[in-house]
Amino acid sequence: MRAAPLAGGVSGPDVLRPLLDTVLAALRAGAEDRGGPLPGGGPAAVAARVNGLRPVLPEHGTGPDEALRAVAYALAAGAADPAHPLCAAHLHTPPLALAVAADLAASALNPSMDSWDQAPAASALETLVTAALATEVFPTAPRPDALVTTGGTESNQLALLLARERHGTVQTVVGTHAHHSFHRAAWLLGLPRPVTVPAPRGTLDPAALDETLTALPGPLLVAATAGTTDAGLIDPLPAIADRCAAHGADLHVDAAYGGPVLFSDTHRPLLTGLDRARTVTVDLHKLGWQPAAAGLLAVRGATDLAVLGHTADYLNADDDTDAGLPDLLGRSLRTTRRPDVVKTAVTLRALGRTGLGALVDACMAHARHLADLVEKTPALELYAPPTLTTVLFRPYGAPDTAVAETRRTLLAEGRAVLGRATADGRLWLKATLLNPHATPGDLEEIITLVEGSTPR
Ligand SMILES: *Cc1c(COP(=O)(O)O)cnc(C)c1O
Repeated sequence: MRAAPLAGGVSGPDVLRPLLDTVLAALRAGAEDRGGPLPGGGPAAVAARVNGLRPVLPEHGTGPDEALRAVAYALAAGAADPAHPLCAAHLHTPPLALAVAADLAASALNPSMDSWDQAPAASALETLVTAALATEVFPTAPRPDALVTTGGTESNQLALLLARERHGTVQTVVGTHAHHSFHRAAWLLGLPRPVTVPAPRGTLDPAALDETLTALPGPLLVAATAGTTDAGLIDPLPAIADRCAAHGADLHVDAAYGGPVLFSDTHRPLLTGLDRARTVTVDLHKLGWQPAAAGLLAVRGATDLAVLGHTADYLNADDDTDAGLPDLLGRSLRTTRRPDVVKTAVTLRALGRTGLGALVDACMAHARHLADLVEKTPALELYAPPTLTTVLFRPYGAPDTAVAETRRTLLAEGRAVLGRATADGRLWLKATLLNPHATPGDLEEIITLVEGSTPR
């Protein structure tokens, strides 16, 4: 059993230290050998290298050092690494080192958030942190609360579930630009398909929403977006909240992307009206710089969450709860649940509001700078000045097939990871800038690479 010591307890840290050295050395070697934002050669080349890890289950193990070195190296050498400034396709964040270090504590202690007797301090910490974050979202609500989720998909699904429990069969209304998770959530919950409102300019048009709400029988749940996945646009929240109030519709805001803008004094006004929602989705694994998962569903009133209450005698027997053991099972639909709030607690405390706000501001400035560079490049066309940290652009006059090919060429060569988005009926390249440490030179390189890779 000498190959399998445990991570916890008094001796765990001493066992971990040399293993961490091995992992860290492998991460470094892998990043050096990769040399760019992603490995070159495309899927076949990457799979061929990973296949070198066979046999997956050898008859006799190779031991912790060899296994950690081999697998961590393969992972790093073959990563699309969001810490590289040219890895900017998705809302795929470069995690902060301090958050990753905090995650080690969470893994070593392995609290499980389904009962107090598995997570005494972690559950108290979650209560503290979720209450504080809920107050950021709903500053004037008397008793806001927030659930920790795996991300926007789960948060949006919970928002639909809570609406269904308030109203019975509820009709969800979304813009055509809303996240795909609403359609899956309605499907999963047995709710009618969401009605979509056209969003020709990429955001919900309050007049079109008004028409839709007038035509539909209730009960209704409008899901607006603060930070669209494709273009980083924010729906006009105050006008939407007015229309919802006039029609008696509930409002949910999917601020998976834009929510952390609340930390920025400069940019917070973009989210005016957010606190008029009944529920708000926020991801801290996008803007927020947490390793996944770090999702939240903030609710204006904690009583909305009572419907999630659930009893399992081995986790929260009534007499245990009556005797004062906190009942955690109703804070998620999951049972075993990682203490994802630990890394968030460390990040909030270490950086403070101004520290996080400065990271938001830096990424916003990068997006503006990249948009300026695009505008100054005659061969490129800018979709629109960025609202958040997403810049859509394309080679002037190129057919969509050439735009798609440019993206794939950069991927195959391992030179840049850019995303794609359809807007205005055309295909665009998408740079989602979440790396606060990107330099002007990095942004210039994005332009140079795209110019040099466009088929003629
Ligand atoms: C990313 C995103 C989601 C989904 O969040 P996950 O964390 O990937 O589950 C939902 N809505 C929007 C607007 C997003 O950008």
